[in-house]
Amino acid sequence: MSLDRTLHEALRDLPLLFSRGVSATLSVATALETVAREVTRLLGATRTTIWLHDRRARELELTAASDTAIALGVRVSTEDISHAAARGLRADHAQQAGPDVVAPLRGWRRALGTLVIETPDPRKASGEQAVEFANELGRQLSVGIENVQLLDEVLRQRRLLEDTFNSLVDLVAVTDRDLRIVQTNEAFAARVGVARADLMQRPIADFVSPETAAWLLAADPSAAPASGGRVEDAQLGGTFLLTATPLINQEGHVMGRVLVARDITRQTRLEAERAALRERLAQSEKLASLGQFVAGIAHEMNNPLQGVLGHLELLIEVTDAARPIRRELRQIYLDAVRAAKIVRNLLVFAGSRRMARRRLQVDRVVARALVSRRASLQRAGIDVVRQQGELPAVLGDPLLLQQALLNILINAEHALADSNGVRRLEITSSADGERRIVSLLIRDTGPGIPPDVLPRIFDPFFTTKDVGKGTGLGLAITYGIVQDHGGTIAASNAPDGGAVFRLDLPAADDGGRVSQGPTGDDR
Ligand code: ADP
Repeated sequence: MSLDRTLHEALRDLPLLFSRGVSATLSVATALETVAREVTRLLGATRTTIWLHDRRARELELTAASDTAIALGVRVSTEDISHAAARGLRADHAQQAGPDVVAPLRGWRRALGTLVIETPDPRKASGEQAVEFANELGRQLSVGIENVQLLDEVLRQRRLLEDTFNSLVDLVAVTDRDLRIVQTNEAFAARVGVARADLMQRPIADFVSPETAAWLLAADPSAAPASGGRVEDAQLGGTFLLTATPLINQEGHVMGRVLVARDITRQTRLEAERAALRERLAQSEKLASLGQFVAGIAHEMNNPLQGVLGHLELLIEVTDAARPIRRELRQIYLDAVRAAKIVRNLLVFAGSRRMARRRLQVDRVVARALVSRRASLQRAGIDVVRQQGELPAVLGDPLLLQQALLNILINAEHALADSNGVRRLEITSSADGERRIVSLLIRDTGPGIPPDVLPRIFDPFFTTKDVGKGTGLGLAITYGIVQDHGGTIAASNAPDGGAVFRLDLPAADDGGRVSQGPTGDDR
């Protein structure tokens, strides 16, 4: 049986109309609606509807109709055989359904939907012609619909993959064999501050530190993923855990590499802080047990020493018989005074001197300490530069804090005396933004503290000075005093040389306002 010419041509044109509609509107529904209208016109039908199969819901949904008055989106169960669309879905071939013609839309292996042409005009096409036309049109439309649905699925999968890739917080970059970027995720692009599109084909070495690039290059592409590279990458701005995986295509050839960089900057900082805390804890434990031991000895030694000093004084001042050896006695006396001073220091170190806390201004303590060193500072030609602001008060023992400072100042004097360059001592006091911490920065222009010495300077009895010159107790005492005040002390070297000591003391609880009340301050 042959269809007449118009219908024949329509069968050639309608699939084209459909595919053009899809490309123009990106909507299957709109494209199908154009087809439905054309079919209605051609066959003089009352209406044409196209139903698409929702397999998961086992329903047919009215997707397009020639008649705009009809509500789209209506659904019928695929089991409801009283409905022409449901019956059409099951059919192998187009067929007459009363006055209507229904044609199945069938894809490669699945039922896609039904085409329903209601009451075609027998004057335009005979019943048989209409059925054959519907069958052929259904077949052709099915190919188009299935292609669009497959494309949709592929795009959806691709979007999912892309979204997953971009949701990764790790920085991911895919390169070719020459380490040129062929793909990156958003995290990588955002970190290097370049749009993803502009990264394509650029060498990855332009965006990461030489160390990361070398690591990526060294990772053997034929081996398993090389992970665990911990790299400090200044260009990416942080510490990263790197993983390099060979990119292998379906034929098993290595096409490039995949770099995954996990930012562990925060974690690394926390680890460092924890290590510092452990260190401080160990230091204070060491100090505490040593303190007990030292306090015992110092107490025992203090009494006989005071006796020696008293007797010597008497000998020198009152005993005539001692006159010929007075010079020697004076020397013995001076040495005994020195010994007493060491014992006193030991007592301070051991913390057996009671703290007498009151509100005080750190700058005043600095001023007092400087006054007591004025002569020797001048003698050594050391310039003292002070910077101070309006600071909150701290709660502390002025004598102990002065002692703590003096130890630092005396060390600085020693360091500067050995230096031939500028001899300057800078003391800067400041408060943090919330005025909860008062900081003192004491910096000298001496030779600085050698890196191997730095970790040990707060250890009791650690000294690099000659016998008789240093006891190694100064900074241990300072450390103990600062700690008893709830503060912290740290030593480092300035980038351009010289030692820097930083003392942080908590401000008094009321935010450090200096009260004028009966407790007063240290003015
Ligand atoms: P001492 O001064 O008796 O040696 P300290 O505990 O005060 O003991 O100091 C320990 C060591 O720290 C010193 O021997 C010195 O090596 C080092 N040190 C302290 N302050 C400075 C400084 N300003 N510049 C260089 N080295 C310093």
